[in-house]
Amino acid sequence: MSDCDDCLFCRIIAGEIPSGKVYEDETTYAFNDINPKAKVHVLVVPKKHYANVAELAAGDPARLAHMVEVAQGIADDAFHGDYRLVFNTGADAGQTVFHVHAHVMTGETLDE
Ligand code: IMP
Repeated sequence: MSDCDDCLFCRIIAGEIPSGKVYEDETTYAFNDINPKAKVHVLVVPKKHYANVAELAAGDPARLAHMVEVAQGIADDAFHGDYRLVFNTGADAGQTVFHVHAHVMTGETLDE
């Protein structure tokens, strides 16, 4: 996609910016959040650029479903399968990087 040149997560996926990779396959990449809000806080992203989860759901729902599978696998490994999955969508909801990403928070019992 054309706006990848200045997209932080496209650059991480391309290996231009280092990241703590925890998972990768043909379509999906996952890495540790630089500012973790839980013992395990991983960002799961599609390699193809979509701005937010609504665009991804409309454009490629199978890829969105696969992101959930990847999140589940991370939580299975880290904490008996329990996890919080968050998609901040839009600046007023706290989205700061406009390449869709699932926050996977796990590894401990989470506060409400
Ligand atoms: P958002 O606020 O939902 O868009 O989430 C963006 C997330 O990206 C935040 O939790 C940041 O801590 C995280 N983040 C920003 N830059 C980096 C980075 O270079 N590596 C890993 N995580 C990052």
